[in-house]
Amino acid sequence: MLRLRPHHLVCLHFYVGKGYSAEFVENMDGIWAAVGHGESITITDGADDVCQCCPHNRNGICSTSEKVNRYDGQVRSLLGISTGDCVDYACVEPKIESEILTSGKLSKICHDCQWYEICKEANEREKE
Ligand code: SF4
Ligand code: SF4
Repeated sequence: MLRLRPHHLVCLHFYVGKGYSAEFVENMDGIWAAVGHGESITITDGADDVCQCCPHNRNGICSTSEKVNRYDGQVRSLLGISTGDCVDYACVEPKIESEILTSGKLSKICHDCQWYEICKEANEREKE
């Protein structure tokens, strides 16, 4: 069972093997593979399985927590999910597409993320 905070569900949609460090990417590759094999996901509040290997994780608190908590709140609300919910990515991804990506909400959620240009361009390609 994976543990993911809400906005990382969206990050996974755009994941292309890039990240904050080699350790981060290796961990993310494993999460990506697990999701691809249908492993269930528990929605968490705060540091999750992605944060485990992130250089911004300071003793379980994200050094950019103001930003990422805001992303989490918006994704939680748009997807109608709550902390503790158990979800399958195959079920939640169509909702990410309809409620966030095709409806142009990505910029409202995470325009100030350092990876935003990559995700924005991918989102625009998907809409073509
Ligand atoms: S930046 Fe923060 S929320 Fe994102 S993976 Fe790193 S610790 Fe987690
Ligand atoms: S811009 Fe950042 S927060 Fe938004 S989906 Fe991409 S990696 Fe995740």
